[in-house]
Amino acid sequence: LTEKNIFSEFAARISSIVGSEDIISSGEKLAEYSVDMADFRGKIMLVARPENGREVSELVKLANELRVPLIARGGGSSVTGAVVGDDAIVVDLTRMNRILKIDRVNWYAHVEAGVILDQLNQELDKAGLYFPPDPASSFLCTVGGAVAEGSGGMRCVKFGTFKDWVLALKVVLPNGNIVKIGEALPKNRAGYDLVHLFIGSEGTLGIITEAWLKIIPSPTEKPRRMFVLLDSWENAGKAILTLRQSRVLPSIMEFVDRESLELVNQKMEMTLPVDEAVLLLDVDEKDITVTEKILQESQARKILVARDDDEAQQFYNARAGVYLAIRGTGKDVMVEDVVVPIDMLMDYLQFVKKLGRRMKVEIIVGGHIGDGNVHPVILYDKQNRNSQKAALQAFEEICRYAIKMGGTVTGEHGVGTQKVKFLREQILAHNGSDVLQLMKELKRLFDPKGIMNPGKYVEAC
Ligand SMILES: Cc1cc2nc3c(=O)[nH]c(=O)nc-3n(C[C@H](O)[C@H](O)[C@H](O)COP(=O)(O)OP(=O)(O)OC[C@H]3O[C@@H](n4cnc5c(N)ncnc54)[C@H](O)[C@@H]3O)c2cc1C
Repeated sequence: LTEKNIFSEFAARISSIVGSEDIISSGEKLAEYSVDMADFRGKIMLVARPENGREVSELVKLANELRVPLIARGGGSSVTGAVVGDDAIVVDLTRMNRILKIDRVNWYAHVEAGVILDQLNQELDKAGLYFPPDPASSFLCTVGGAVAEGSGGMRCVKFGTFKDWVLALKVVLPNGNIVKIGEALPKNRAGYDLVHLFIGSEGTLGIITEAWLKIIPSPTEKPRRMFVLLDSWENAGKAILTLRQSRVLPSIMEFVDRESLELVNQKMEMTLPVDEAVLLLDVDEKDITVTEKILQESQARKILVARDDDEAQQFYNARAGVYLAIRGTGKDVMVEDVVVPIDMLMDYLQFVKKLGRRMKVEIIVGGHIGDGNVHPVILYDKQNRNSQKAALQAFEEICRYAIKMGGTVTGEHGVGTQKVKFLREQILAHNGSDVLQLMKELKRLFDPKGIMNPGKYVEAC
């Protein structure tokens, strides 16, 4: 069969699996699936919106038989090209958005993959429970997508990323078989840890249809939220280092630069004070005095402590809104997501600042600084070859310097197509070719026909 015929056959047979109203094969609706939130693009042939795991399994079986590439999609908020591709079928999981159980004794939530993170936390809140990992896209991203990306967020400095909160998964394998991996238990070490293999697998090993997530009681005492203005990135880095040396562990430790905050003020109609560097901190009451002392010693120009919940929410929204405010400029972006050892943060921030000046490239920086996770966002113009070339070169240097420092090219956003070259460089530099080979063999073992999100991530290295 030719490629065209294969897609026609797939399209003809899929309607016996999902209803025709849940198949999108043309028009603007289809175009919406051809792009992610950093403007990576692909040519999607058709979208299927299954309602349950059985339908997912049947359509994967069909794709396996016809060797049709599949891309699982949740909120589509990926920024690395992971959720788009050429000549592929998208499996949109957002109809599978049921919270199946909130277990108040065993402290887990059993959910379908298409549940949106904020939706989950709103339900949990009613029971005095919560799920800590909080990507800034939590209003839009799904459990399945966040598991597949191994997502992080602001509270991860204290509570860890998705890697620390997934107990078990139900997965449709590339041959269409449905399996449950892991156990909804606080402890379980029976067999190889397949759950962690799926966390951060970027849809390349199978489609997640359900998850059992660890949950905890909501804190009885709210931390105090601080919005701290500093005169330099260096002093912000110094404050973070000193807080750690003093064994202070805020539950949020975020950084934004002047440009980010100015954009947020402009695009979100806020009037927050601005300086070269701003830290957003959630500090336990017992640590307030020592934190203020450290911030003053780091030349903080202003320390604002939220007076009420509304102000605390405003500070949080400002940080969470940075990326969308940057996108609001209409400029093209390349988003990085490096993590460097925290004792090298100051060095790394200085490097990024100098790089922007040296290459005359606009780089806006924010990040989950308490984790050493820095998000340099390069602004450029795709239509201008020189601008694109300079941006790509700056992106390469940002990745390579992190690798050289012993860091990683991705802390949470993943690899997709964007960072394939640097994933390879990092693994070869830090782990060796045997490790890369093992990873490639794992992909082949799970997906011998290469139908799951092909041409990306480890397979493409
Ligand atoms: C404004 C904004 C802020 C962000 N902030 C953060 C942040 O703070 N921290 C962070 O980590 N990320 C952040 N991101 C990136 C992104 O939102 C996260 O990676 C998010 O978890 C992706 O979820 P999603 O449902 O949108 O996944 P999608 O974009 O739909 O998919 C992402 C990847 O997961 C795969 N996938 C999706 N669903 C499934 C499934 N059910 N089974 C198997 N594979 C699947 C896809 O094939 C793709 O490879 C941000 C993005 C934006 C736009």
